[in-house]
Amino acid sequence: MLVHLNPRRIAIGGGYHGCHGVIGILTKLNGLQKVALHDDDAAWNAAGLGKGDVVHIETPINPTGEATDIAHFAERAHKRGCILTVDATFGPPGLQDPFAPGADIIMHSGTKYIGGHSDLLCGILAVRRNDWWKELWTERLHLGSVMGSFEGWLGLRSVRTLELRVQRQSASAERLVAWLADALASKGGAEDEDGDAMRKAVLRVQHASLQKDDMHWLKKQMPNGFGPVFVVWLRSMEMARAFPSKLKLFQHATSLGGVESLIEWRRMSDDSVDVRVLRVSVGVEAVEDLQADMLQGFKAVLADESVTR
Ligand SMILES: *Cc1c(COP(=O)(O)O)cnc(C)c1O
Repeated sequence: MLVHLNPRRIAIGGGYHGCHGVIGILTKLNGLQKVALHDDDAAWNAAGLGKGDVVHIETPINPTGEATDIAHFAERAHKRGCILTVDATFGPPGLQDPFAPGADIIMHSGTKYIGGHSDLLCGILAVRRNDWWKELWTERLHLGSVMGSFEGWLGLRSVRTLELRVQRQSASAERLVAWLADALASKGGAEDEDGDAMRKAVLRVQHASLQKDDMHWLKKQMPNGFGPVFVVWLRSMEMARAFPSKLKLFQHATSLGGVESLIEWRRMSDDSVDVRVLRVSVGVEAVEDLQADMLQGFKAVLADESVTR
């Protein structure tokens, strides 16, 4: 996408570290400059962000699963002649359509929800303009990033169940997030042993479903669910690092989006993330089983003296 658009500047926030890695390569090759996404219009003017440049948002964002208002950035990008690109990996088709609020190009890691079975690598661009599509097709041929036919076949198998999977996974994530957030908000009481364990282990939970002040645009942007990934902060690095190995249903792995639930101590893959952060990718298992597994995991981590000492 960036090879094709060849902008001089790109407004971008946090998000997937690999995207920043690609921008770093282009900076080396042709001097591409980063501009802070959340700066105001005056700062964007000062940075020279203008025609042909790119405003790139990732929503919901990796790793926290929190969402950004696409329509807001579409308006700001388009009024200065910029192209709005949206990494919608965490909000695949079935959950949101970034073209509706104004995206020009949508990008997905097809490896995640679109593949959905943790068995293919694939990147997807959807573009608003037909001329872009033709040029991208030609440039891809020369760059060589063409998907193998076996992966194409696996991808076609996967899209047949895409909507079913992501809506189920998203609904389960929302239930787990609400369960955690309710426990954290509660004062506890006599015989609330489970809630006490959750409060002792968990510091914070983050997910788009908790963005109560944003629901006026968020419900429109994500009418079918807020995405299957969320973040749990445990109270110490030691607890967060040990927690995945206490779980029986969740596998400890990077990547996400498959039908099986995964959890990752995120610091392992991304050194810009707090050491207490666990990223959870909810699969299609029964949500009651996932909840029970997390609860016994909190208790196990609290009982492990090598962790709590
Ligand atoms: C994983 C991921 C990517 C890159 O995907 P690959 O399949 O590794 O190419 C891009 N953006 C986000 C938000 C991701 O989570």
